[in-house]
Amino acid sequence: MSLIQLIYTSTVSETFEEKDLTAILASAKKANAEANITGLLCFDGNFFMQCLEGDRSQINATYAKILSDKRHQALELLAYSTIDKRSYSQWEMGLVPKAALSRPLNLLYTASGLFEPYSMSAASAAQFLRALRNAMPLL
Ligand code: FAD
Repeated sequence: MSLIQLIYTSTVSETFEEKDLTAILASAKKANAEANITGLLCFDGNFFMQCLEGDRSQINATYAKILSDKRHQALELLAYSTIDKRSYSQWEMGLVPKAALSRPLNLLYTASGLFEPYSMSAASAAQFLRALRNAMPLL
């Protein structure tokens, strides 16, 4: 079994409503617990950025489901790599509070200081998410 970390970004679809986020998180937490997947989800009202970590076949199957989910679009894979250990073992899927996506943090990883996950390199995306993890409480 290979431990994998996958990071992608996406944009909300036109039909997306704020209440969809609650449903997404609830189903993600349940399914991820069953598949031993852990991770973090950022959402600023427009872009999603998500990290999934776990067994390779479980990650691939879950990402395939996420790819075909009509609640978001324009998915781009930012990083896919084997890892020695998990970074988000406490979270079946932790939601990063919107306020944590602050200008000082964004400035470290983007040219504009805005939350622009599509412009992040694989390394920036991984570091950005780890910085958020270190700043957030267990949800
Ligand atoms: P079913 O529940 O049988 O649904 C069938 C189809 O309808 C699927 O294509 C599904 O995407 C879609 N669907 C389901 N519910 C709704 C709804 N309320 N409104 C519109 N369409 C719907 N799943 C995980 O397991 N782990 C995750 O970490 C995870 N993260 C996600 C992050 C984001 C940003 C999004 C948008 C979705 C995420 N999901 C996650 C949900 C995932 O995309 C699937 O909806 C879920 O895994 C159920 O898939 P299923 O094939 O069992 O579909």
